[in-house]
Amino acid sequence: TRIQEKPTTEVRTTCPYCGVGCGVLARVAADGTVTVRGDTDHPANFGRLCSKGSALAETVGLEGRVLYPEIGGKQASWEDAINLVAQKFSQSITEHGPDSVGFYISGQMLTEDYYVANKLMKGFIGSANIDTNSRLCMASSVAGHKRAFGEDIVPGVYEDLDEADLAVLVGSNLAWCHPILYQRLVSARQKRGTKIVVIDPRRTATADECDLHLPIRPGTDVLLFNGLLAHLASHNLLDRSFINSATSGFEEALALASADASVPEAVAKGCGIPLADLHLFYELFIATDRSVTVYSQGVNQSAHGTDKTNAIINCHLATGRIGRPGMGPFSVTGQPNAMGGREVGGLANQLAAHMSFENPQDVDRVGRFWNAPNIARKAGLKAVDLFRAAGDGSIKALWIMGTNPAVSMPNAGQVRAALKSCDFVAVSDVTRTDTTRYADVFLPAASWGEKNGMVTNSERRMSRQRPFLPVPGEARPDWRIICDVAARMGFAGAFAFDDSAAVFREHAALSAFENAGQRFFDIGTLDEMDGEAYDHFDPSHWPMPKARPAISRLGGDGFFPTADGRAHFVPVRQEAVALPTDVAYPLALNTGRMRDQWHTMTRTGRVPRLMSHVSEPAIDMHPNDAAARDLVDGDLAYVTSPYGFARAKVNITDAQRPGEAFLPMHWSGYFAANAGTGALSTPICDAFSGQPELKHVPVKIVRENVA
Ligand code: SF4
Repeated sequence: TRIQEKPTTEVRTTCPYCGVGCGVLARVAADGTVTVRGDTDHPANFGRLCSKGSALAETVGLEGRVLYPEIGGKQASWEDAINLVAQKFSQSITEHGPDSVGFYISGQMLTEDYYVANKLMKGFIGSANIDTNSRLCMASSVAGHKRAFGEDIVPGVYEDLDEADLAVLVGSNLAWCHPILYQRLVSARQKRGTKIVVIDPRRTATADECDLHLPIRPGTDVLLFNGLLAHLASHNLLDRSFINSATSGFEEALALASADASVPEAVAKGCGIPLADLHLFYELFIATDRSVTVYSQGVNQSAHGTDKTNAIINCHLATGRIGRPGMGPFSVTGQPNAMGGREVGGLANQLAAHMSFENPQDVDRVGRFWNAPNIARKAGLKAVDLFRAAGDGSIKALWIMGTNPAVSMPNAGQVRAALKSCDFVAVSDVTRTDTTRYADVFLPAASWGEKNGMVTNSERRMSRQRPFLPVPGEARPDWRIICDVAARMGFAGAFAFDDSAAVFREHAALSAFENAGQRFFDIGTLDEMDGEAYDHFDPSHWPMPKARPAISRLGGDGFFPTADGRAHFVPVRQEAVALPTDVAYPLALNTGRMRDQWHTMTRTGRVPRLMSHVSEPAIDMHPNDAAARDLVDGDLAYVTSPYGFARAKVNITDAQRPGEAFLPMHWSGYFAANAGTGALSTPICDAFSGQPELKHVPVKIVRENVA
């Protein structure tokens, strides 16, 4: 149990689950009981919390926490643990070069944690082999944003959902995965009659409240939006003024879209939807300027996710619907601080503060700011390649922080084999997971409720996570653990931060360093924020530049941070999924979240009332597919892909398209006697973003006793 010296007043903090970033008020009573409620002053949720957020108090107990460092599974001192990590990394760098080591980090980490991890790897170790589990979440949107806008920006804000007349939800089960945004949308529907179109192969809970559901064939999003672009052009429904003044590349994008998608009958056939429904979608999109297109993992987790993103953005640029109230393309992120990680360069192909390895001046700028002569000059290994390298021996020391790749990575069986064979694996985490089984060193990290720092949500709004509980045992904040290792590796001066506020100030200063408005990501006004201002920081959108007034929406003025100051249309064409179904694997498996679970259940799996929603993994199948296999509801089935297998109960539902199946992503060997969904998924990635195609893999499904 925790020792609570005195009851706390309510502490204003932020939910650690999804990218909505809801404000939470937490209180600890004299007997140590924790209660939470929604923060009515937080502009993301105005007091609402979903089922996961409202159960947060039930997740802060110490059951299952690892409170002391361990070496080889035995309790050790911090001194010995830090020494061993520093020594193994330094030895590998000396003997095999900086690219022989890697970090795999997490969108659960706070901006300050992310910042120092990135600084250590890219600035001082001299490699960019640092990637994050956000690679599995929104890397395709990042790549699409960079291609279209020159920088990874989400142009809109949540108010756009309140003010839209049409919301198009693509590959997004918003009702379960971003519930508070969905509630805002439903409120808008009740108040102003906002129309909702759901584009998703599955009829999810989100489609319960919509005007049109388009159950498109998996992977045909580009065809659908290219068809929309061609339709807009052929009916003279373009915003020629915006196209001419604020964009480039329109004619090329239209030519490619028209080549495949100018005939609605062909688009409807290719997407597998009725022609009348396609026309209704077109009509709804045409009817109002106030159109917002929200997309998430169904778009991103694809071998062509970047093209899908750009196909959507192209339609918004063509109609000038961007950066103004109630309109714009809107990528919503899965994790609480995926956006913060993008700001500090937490992806292997990014530098800090939205700067780029492709620009040598950016590399020099970051190197000078950090006084880091050894700065990495090229992109590092993205997640799938990082674990591949750990498996083939080219990565010899790997540090995993706050994430569970033994379950969540595609081809998870191979990832487990890589972790087993890698020379040295350190893991920072809160509890034991499937991944910590492979740790040579376990570094106990502080958890939500104990940590102090910043997160940024899907609308670029920075909010504070504040502590309301003492850090138990010998656990430490991630940023502190990283700085301790950095100091032991000989970089003490560059990592001598007194507290997380000092880390954040440096992050803010770097964003403004030699940035005369070339980049949108600029929070220079925060570079001298003292401890008190940091403690009292109110949720705020970036950019927050010193030289210009802060603005919330981006791009509405027609300016974009590209070389020519214009947004870029990107010509894209419909491509096939990476691995089509065949005789051996005749069903297409989709994966995703359940309403009450988060990631690999290491937190939500401990809450009985969350487990009661869906207590075990079930594979959704269409009645025809189940009947063809002589399966009935509740049968146990083996699901086998070219990569691995899992077991699950059969759930027969006509919410699935025939020929397709769905399995939740959450369950793992820690909670169920199977290898988990990750073992089935393909590691084939989008060529631009490096994001794997987690939404489509061919499988066969058979009754357990005939496998
Ligand atoms: Fe937390 Fe997301 Fe639920 Fe908000 S919507 S309470 S951020 S899980």
